[in-house]
Amino acid sequence: MDINEIVQRLIDEGISLSLNIEVPEVARYSFAVGPEFIHLLLEDPVAARAHLAGVDKYDYLNWLRDRANVYCAATTRKGRRCRMVVNSGHTVDAKRWVELQGAFCEIHDSNV
Ligand SMILES: [Zn+2]
Repeated sequence: MDINEIVQRLIDEGISLSLNIEVPEVARYSFAVGPEFIHLLLEDPVAARAHLAGVDKYDYLNWLRDRANVYCAATTRKGRRCRMVVNSGHTVDAKRWVELQGAFCEIHDSNV
């Protein structure tokens, strides 16, 4: 039996598989997965998690880097990226994080 067959057999016996995606100390998302997912996970764990989270690998890694917060897209007068979190941008899932990119914080929103 190859691994897919073994996993399918276990699922048929009532075992369920889920994969946790963790933003350390911030949030944990759990996804049900099937036997077909095993190969993708073993081949490329990051791409597999990005796929489950519904975003591409690049966005997935940036979402983790920003600890699931969406930061303001404005540049400060000193030329740095604003470090304020946008409205409703605290601890969002990866899809929402992508949707909110380019948004501004309360301070910069009124100046645009
Ligand atoms: Zn801002």
